[in-house]
Amino acid sequence: MDFLRPLTWADALAAKAAHPGATPIQGGTDVMVEINFDARRPEALLDLTSVPELTEHETLEDGTLRVGAGVPYARLIADLGDRLPGLAQAARTVGSPQIRNRGTAGGNLGAASPAGDCHPPLLASDAVVEAESSARGTRLIPAAEFYLGVKRNALEPDELIRAIRTAPASGPQYFSKIGTRNAMVIAVCSFAIALHPGERRVGTGVGSAAPTPRRATAAEEYLSGELDWDGRGPLPDPVARRFGELVREAAAPIDDVRGTADYRRHALAVLARRTLAWAWNDHRATREEAS
Ligand SMILES: Cc1cc2nc3c(=O)[nH]c(=O)nc-3n(C[C@H](O)[C@H](O)[C@H](O)COP(=O)(O)OP(=O)(O)OC[C@H]3O[C@@H](n4cnc5c(N)ncnc54)[C@H](O)[C@@H]3O)c2cc1C
Repeated sequence: MDFLRPLTWADALAAKAAHPGATPIQGGTDVMVEINFDARRPEALLDLTSVPELTEHETLEDGTLRVGAGVPYARLIADLGDRLPGLAQAARTVGSPQIRNRGTAGGNLGAASPAGDCHPPLLASDAVVEAESSARGTRLIPAAEFYLGVKRNALEPDELIRAIRTAPASGPQYFSKIGTRNAMVIAVCSFAIALHPGERRVGTGVGSAAPTPRRATAAEEYLSGELDWDGRGPLPDPVARRFGELVREAAAPIDDVRGTADYRRHALAVLARRTLAWAWNDHRATREEAS
């Protein structure tokens, strides 16, 4: 197995173009497990850990956050938790401290597991994946178009993920995950919500309940129209219930070792109502403070 170790982003792209079959490795918390279990025998490993640009984050001129694909979870939480609370909450649930020190959102996107914890908050916040190849330059792929199938994403063989682009939270964001225990667990199902009060819009992301992570678009449209964005009242119970039903209907889960399809559907409706209640209470509190 060849081992390629570029020191610059340009060299990384050149190496991927020259060796399209090479497997990129960042934190290695997915790749090394697969190699150790002999589930994957890559012809070459493309080690991205020495490419400095990947471990940086910045704010672009229009205010968008550009988070390098190699920023580990621990830094997502510490550096960006205030601006990307949904993603930071998801990051806090990933693995253990050791995994959060090594593992990255870029690697989560590369693996494209339906159960990956980054996907629901990225979907809910309209994040965009910045991919790049040396031949065609930068390609911006909305998260909703990035997941193509079980562990399949929209990257071309000569492309690498450079960064995630997303606006800082413009309203409350929440992520919640069901597991068989509290830590070191793959999601049985997960859900993220983002309120965008300025646009009177709701974003959602459903995880581990379909072949790909997905938005619950009918639930988003329903709730965006029902919420009394200017009011300070509590969330009407029928609205929360209907939202939960629509999220449940958006799922297409399977029975597997972690849970049954029925359980996943039920749990998603609960997660949707619960995260909506948290988000709406935060929104009301912000309006109270402003008045
Ligand atoms: C003990 C343990 C617990 C875990 N718990 C969780 C959990 O709770 N939730 C969860 O979601 N995941 C979990 N995982 C899986 C893993 O930690 C995450 O998916 C993590 O985000 C992978 O990031 P990484 O940087 O280690 O990726 P890597 O292992 O380095 O790469 C993962 C995939 O992404 C590709 N890739 C990496 N970087 C790039 C790039 N720049 N461009 C293109 N492709 C790229 C790789 O080729 C590979 O296919 C766990 C893993 C372990 C071992």
